[in-house]
Amino acid sequence: MRDYAIAAIPGDGIGPEVVEAARAVLEECQRRYGFTLNYTDYDFSAELYRRTGRKVTEADMDEIGAHDAVLFGAMGLPEVRGPEGLELGAQVEMRAYFPLFASLRPVRLFDGVDGPLKTDHVDMLVIRETSEGMFAGLADHHEPSDEEASDRMTITRAGARRLIEVAFDQARTRRRRGTPGHVTLLHKSNALRSNVLLEKVFDEVAAEHPDLGSAKHYIDAGAMYMVLDPGRYDVVVTENIFGDIVSEVAAGLVGGLGVAPSADVSLDRGVFQPSHGSAPDIAGQGVANPTAMILSAAMMLDWLGGRHDDERCLRAAEGIQRAVEATLAAGVRGPDLGGTAGTAEVAEAIRASLPQVEVRA
Ligand code: ATP
Repeated sequence: MRDYAIAAIPGDGIGPEVVEAARAVLEECQRRYGFTLNYTDYDFSAELYRRTGRKVTEADMDEIGAHDAVLFGAMGLPEVRGPEGLELGAQVEMRAYFPLFASLRPVRLFDGVDGPLKTDHVDMLVIRETSEGMFAGLADHHEPSDEEASDRMTITRAGARRLIEVAFDQARTRRRRGTPGHVTLLHKSNALRSNVLLEKVFDEVAAEHPDLGSAKHYIDAGAMYMVLDPGRYDVVVTENIFGDIVSEVAAGLVGGLGVAPSADVSLDRGVFQPSHGSAPDIAGQGVANPTAMILSAAMMLDWLGGRHDDERCLRAAEGIQRAVEATLAAGVRGPDLGGTAGTAEVAEAIRASLPQVEVRA
């Protein structure tokens, strides 16, 4: 059985704190489930850029990309801006360079967490497109102006197709774990030409998967349903900026960013990071909830296990899910969820709750 090479990029703010917590849980998983992760640490951050002007280069990307997966904390600080006035973070560059085209953002309402809704059932995967859509023009030439500025929304047939295929694939994989096997497209084809194409491609791919259910909503109504009736959603797929927004709405339904993991993937690469950013307002206080990062690490193991047919990683990913469930059900919660447990306490509770397993040779 092979070992795995992991590029670890803790980044800024609470990034290093939550990555350290996740690595402690992963270390215990390695011991219990018998696999090996070999880390290379990278200190890329907005803070490094502020101190030294050092940005992530193409050579860095090549080196990072040679690993089996990337474990990423958070990068960017509000006051550190690049020449165009935008916040600095390697996420966008990595998406463009590798390129990663789908951001998988699962949300689940765990027992022990009070969501803002009456329902106690929220279990959906929001898939945000990340290579085109409303961010398609990021690298476009533009003349800086204080009078007019524009952005470009572009959707290609190829981009839409690979995204929607991932959505149906994910619905099928999730169904094995008891979810309904259903994909909903959120779009705006009544007003945006690009979304007419997105809807057309969705219909084509949906027709190729008659065993899975499908639905379509305009993004505005779909966002409302997310709050009024989240149980209708299993896999939700949408373009770049709609996904950016509704994935955080979805996170809000299950207790907020502290419990919302994510994975940016292509067909052969994966960057695993929490949905939250560097949260400079709480950095250095030991109160960041590490659960989102730990669940992102579980997504990494699930992805490695699936790609390499490695039962050890698949079982460890499942074990982390169970440990998070047990920890929250036992009332160990950070301040973001109304509790008092700090980063280290939550991480230790999750580590200690990993199921006892017999490691198969
Ligand atoms: P970005 O644009 O980089 O994603 P953001 O502007 O969405 O960042 P975050 O850094 O994600 O902002 O933080 C948003 C709010 O959520 C902040 O008040 C922050 O303290 C809180 N928050 C984010 N992550 C966590 C966490 N892991 N634990 C507790 N609170 C968090």
